[in-house]
This record gives sequence, C-alpha cells and structure tokens, in this order.
Amino acid sequence: MSPDLFTSSPDDTRAAGMEMGKKLSPGDVVAISGELGAGKTTFIKGLAEGLGVSEFVSSPSFIIINEYNGRIPLFHVDLYRLRGNKEVIDINLPEYFDRQGVVAIEWAEKAKGILPENTIEVLIDPLGEKKRKIRIRRRAC
Ligand code: ADP
Ligand code: MG
Repeated sequence: MSPDLFTSSPDDTRAAGMEMGKKLSPGDVVAISGELGAGKTTFIKGLAEGLGVSEFVSSPSFIIINEYNGRIPLFHVDLYRLRGNKEVIDINLPEYFDRQGVVAIEWAEKAKGILPENTIEVLIDPLGEKKRKIRIRRRAC
C-alpha cells in the first residue's frame, strides 16, 4: 500500500495527479472519492496532463462522461448527479472499462460493486482550507 500524500495547494494536488497519469496503462480505472470541493477534478486535471492530454476542460455538470485524447484515451466520468449502481449501469459505465483507455471516475462511491478488480482508489480528504490528505491504493477485488 502506498503511503498517504499530503498536499497544501491545488497545484500540489494537480502534480500528484500528473505523477499518476504518467504511469497509467490502458485499461486502468482510477476511482476518486471525496466530498464536494475536495479536489477530485483538480487531481484529474493533473492526471490528464500526465497522460499527455492538451485540452482538458472540466466539464459542465450535465455531462457525465467526457473523452480526451492523450498517450492513452482518457474517459473522465463524473457521477455526481447519479443516485447509485442502477443509474451507473444505465449510462453503460462498465462498457468503458474494456476500451483500453484510462477511466477516471469522480464520486466513485456511487459505482461501488461495479468497479473492476485492480481499480486504483484515490481518497481525498480535506484537512483544512488548503490541506488535503490523498490516499492511493489498489483494490484487491
Ligand atoms: P471536487 O471535484 O472534488 O469537487 P475541485 O477540484 O473542483 O473539487 O475543487 C477543489 C477546490 O479546492 C478548488 O477550489 C481548489 O482551488 C481548492 N483547493 C484548495 N487547496 C487544495 C488542494 N490542496 N488540493 C486541491 N484543491 C484545493
Ligand atoms: Mg469535481
């Protein structure tokens, strides 16, 4: 298990995402949890940079899945407005796991039970106005 990371600015969190993005492989799923404003989108911006995506724009909230071209395709998924497993299946999320891209999911707690084995879990915990704890681990099942 990787040690917890601590960041003290949005740029730090973005840099942590970028480091991860550089190392990802086709088929990787990154499940990001944390409350509103924790830094999930900020982390994914960095992740996109690490994947070589040049045109990442955080999507308007009515778009659930966005695709970007990088070294590997990036599918950015935001489950904020969905209620849980049933709706997550309705949007065909599981289909994206087989597309040989990287799937980065915000509000991943809503997709519990659907995420594949080996999903990389990222938990972002706000500790203060600018301080965040980031915990990264590979899910065994
Ligand atoms: P989420 O997608 O989890 O709702 P965002 O990434 O959109 O969160 O927003 C995070 C907010 O918190 C931004 O306004 C950002 O400037 C602020 N922030 C302050 N400190 C940090 C930090 N260390 N890491 C990430 N975001 C931070
Ligand atoms: Mg967000």
